[in-house]
Formats: sequence, structure tokens, C-alpha cells
Amino acid sequence: MSKTIAIANQKGGVGKTTTSVNLGAGLASLGKRVLLVDIDPQGNTTSGVGINKADVENCIYDIIINEVHPKDAINPTNIEGLDIIPATIQLAGAEIELVPTISREVRLKKSLQLVKPNYDYILIDCPPSLGILTINSLTAADSVIIPIQCEYYALEGLSQLLNTVRLVQKHLNTSLKIEGVLLTMLDARTNLGIQVIEEVKKYFQEKVYKTIIPRNIRLSEAPSHGQSIITYDPRSKGAEVYLELAKEVISYE
Ligand code: ADP
Ligand code: MG
Repeated sequence: MSKTIAIANQKGGVGKTTTSVNLGAGLASLGKRVLLVDIDPQGNTTSGVGINKADVENCIYDIIINEVHPKDAINPTNIEGLDIIPATIQLAGAEIELVPTISREVRLKKSLQLVKPNYDYILIDCPPSLGILTINSLTAADSVIIPIQCEYYALEGLSQLLNTVRLVQKHLNTSLKIEGVLLTMLDARTNLGIQVIEEVKKYFQEKVYKTIIPRNIRLSEAPSHGQSIITYDPRSKGAEVYLELAKEVISYE
């Protein structure tokens, strides 16, 4: 069985990219075949797994706009079992270029279907917007993981995201599910974090992952070394929790 999961929240800085890279690495280290799809023009997932964007031949832009076969855009990473379709800044123009095209919402879905049988998990790292790239991701996905940062206004903006999910369910992808809600960057020293956890659990109930990602400095250092936390510092708290999350995700197969 193969599962495609979009990691989405239109807020920036909530841990989408950190979760894509490290959940992907965690799943791969547990023996799963994983494809990361970077669909954020910033390309942080791409550089986060050690890919030099200047060396990228075909990126997600070429798949969506030029209909390049996904096989020609898949790159191996420095982690066994983890591949990536990279993003470069070229993608920044895609939102506008897609406007006049036919079936613009289903381009990613059609393309990923060609390689889906080769992977146990496809994780799509979405940009911080609810534009056409995120719509493509939600249309291509079986389910969505929503990372929520444990801070004031954690729930702010979520109704827009859930509304977008509902619209995609209604018009483009009737089987789209919410895979889980992930609490990120918890600062265990403050009461605020605990309050946010309670608030989010009240709202999403059993959809909230038992695994909660704490603030961990090693998690923020790893990307500048082009590495996941699993390879950068396997003994860190960050590596421990993302492995735990990977096991939890597998348990809902
Ligand atoms: P997004 O993709 O949603 O914009 P990122 O994953 O890029 O968010 O995270 C935003 C910033 O916070 C990055 O600099 C990242 O390294 C850092 N970060 C993410 N998760 C953690 C964490 N659990 N602990 C410490 N820093 C984190
Ligand atoms: Mg990001």
C-alpha cells in the first residue's frame, strides 16, 4: 500500500519543512521507501536533504508546467530509501503560469500516479499559501498532516485551511482525509504550550498525534548541514521524536 501525504498549513514557520524532511528520514530509516516532493519555491526541503539547487536538472516546475516525466526529476538523497523531487526558485512563477492552463489543479496528481507504486510514502512539502500549488498537493494526496506551532494564535487561520480542504474534497478529491494534526516547537518551560495543546485537542480530538515535537536546537541546525536530524544527530531529542512520529504514522496505515 502506498500513501501520499501533503504537509500543509498556509502559515509560514510552523514546521512543515522540518516535518517533511525528518518524518521522511524517519520513515526511510524504518525501512519504508519514501519520496519527498518539494513544492515550495523556497526549496528548503531540497537543500535540507543535501541537494545543491544549482545542480538540479529537472525540478517540480518541469513536472507541473513542462510535463516532464517524474522519473526524470527524482534524485536520491544522502539517506538510503529517501528520494526527492526538488524545487528551485523557478517554481515561483508557476502560480501565474498555471492560471490559463487546462486541468491545472490535477497536474501533480497525474504525474505522481506514475511513480506512486515505487514508494510506501510520498510526502509533499507545501508552500505557505493556499494557492494553486497547495491545491495541486491536496488534490494529489490521500491525506494531509497539519503542523501547528505551540504558540499564541495557534488556531488562527486554521478555518481557512480547513475550508480549502473541504473545497478540495467537494470538487477535486473526494477521498482526501486529515491524516493528523502535529503540535510542533513546544517549549516545555512555559504554560502557554500546555494551553495550546489543550485547545488544539479540543478542536481536533483524536486527530492530534500523541507525539509532540519540542523545540530542539539540533533540529534547527541540521538543515544548514544539508542533513536530516536522523543523520545529523541521531541521539538528539529531535531525532527521537521524529522517529516516534514515523512509528505513529506507520501505525495508522
Ligand atoms: P515551515 O516549513 O512551516 O515554514 P520550518 O520547518 O521551515 O517551517 O521551520 C521554521 C523554522 O523553525 C526553521 O528555521 C526551522 O529550522 C525551525 N524549527 C522547526 N521546527 C523546530 C523545532 N522543533 N525546534 C527548533 N527549531 C525548529
Ligand atoms: Mg517550509
